Amino acid sequence: MSTFQAPKGTYDLTPPRSATFLAVREAIAAPLRDSGYGYIETPGFENVELFARGVGESTDIVTKEMYTLTTKGGDQLALRPEGTASVLRAALEANLHKAGNLPVKLWYSGSYYRYERPQAGRYRHFSQVGAEAIGTEDPVLDAELIILADQAYRSLGLRQFRILLNSLGDKECRPVYREALQSFLRDLDLDEETRRRIEINPLRVLDDKRADVQKQLTDAPKLRDYLCDACKAYHEEVRALLTAAGVVFEDDEKLVRGLDYYTRTTFEFVHDGLGAQSAVGGGGRYDGLSEMIGGPELPSVGWALGVDRTVLALEAEGIELDLPYTTSVYAVPLGEEARRALFGVVTGLRRAGIAADFAFGGRGLKGAMKSANRSGARYALVAGERDLAEGVVQLKDMESGEQSAVPLAEVEAELAKRLG
Ligand code: ATP
Ligand code: MG
Repeated sequence: MSTFQAPKGTYDLTPPRSATFLAVREAIAAPLRDSGYGYIETPGFENVELFARGVGESTDIVTKEMYTLTTKGGDQLALRPEGTASVLRAALEANLHKAGNLPVKLWYSGSYYRYERPQAGRYRHFSQVGAEAIGTEDPVLDAELIILADQAYRSLGLRQFRILLNSLGDKECRPVYREALQSFLRDLDLDEETRRRIEINPLRVLDDKRADVQKQLTDAPKLRDYLCDACKAYHEEVRALLTAAGVVFEDDEKLVRGLDYYTRTTFEFVHDGLGAQSAVGGGGRYDGLSEMIGGPELPSVGWALGVDRTVLALEAEGIELDLPYTTSVYAVPLGEEARRALFGVVTGLRRAGIAADFAFGGRGLKGAMKSANRSGARYALVAGERDLAEGVVQLKDMESGEQSAVPLAEVEAELAKRLG
């Protein structure tokens, strides 16, 4: 151990567990790439005002969880706490929405930072893969995104997750509901902070985790009863498309995102094996966000899935991903001359696309074979002076233990054949 440790609320990804993280990122990205989403990467920090406006002044993320900093030049920046605002900012800046091909479909993957109280599944640095479809209002698009997330989780073998679905209405019907909810909430027995929330962000109160608050909310007006006909029809269409795709979901009226630019479809993926931090991903429609950050009207929908919690979900379900061998061949030279010859073979194998590693440091046969075992390689190549004199290397199948001599010049072809 060095004098230093990873900062509180963070952890390092190290082998072999890090391979699972990569595989999870890849599994989430694959269905997106196959569905017309292009990769986008934005900076790890942005002007703090982008998040204040794009995530919302009244959210926990902005009021409590943001890492902000003032640069030497006096700029106010924040480490990104989420992806949507940055991606939309970048899309607008690059005029992607003007290329005449809406929706603009983008996916991203990266690190996010929130100053939270660290606990299982809740970190200060975490990893998300996300998708945004910008510029189109079409229930098929909402359904597509939910189906792709479901497909990603299923491809990983996850089964104990559920999809919660709700509609938040739009700028026609939500204000009416908002007022009805506010007048209901104002009559309840609530603490000062929650009272303030009623005025700024009343829908968020529905999301309060405290039992004594939840008890008082039983008779709260329901958004469903306030949805306008257009929102109802839109939501029914999303539900029908999901059902037709065989994607099971639960209607959850309490599922909210408090900000005005979140509209209509909203959803969350929860996993039942994770305890308190059960949300593995979430998203929805954000028809008003573009205007909020100074852009044109661009109705959009997206989601972000948490990689850390997805890995925890795999562990909770006891799923071991079928990761490809990182190393297929491990070379063990015995002696100086063999080192040169086998290193040449390994270089050739690598150039031919066969994953190969080497026993460095002139170690003895026993120690080197241990490393070969640990590497997970399917084959070992062993050669000493006598082998080289005969122009061969010993090719050992690490699974069966069988060993045979193969002429040096044929090693690459033989391995290519055996490894398929
Ligand atoms: P929560 O209710 O658990 O705080 P959230 O609503 O803040 O979640 P989102 O902003 O919707 O989460 O982020 C999408 C996903 O990112 C979450 O479902 C979760 O998997 C992951 N995530 C969010 N915050 C953290 C964190 N602090 N540590 C690890 N993963 C996180
Ligand atoms: Mg949170």
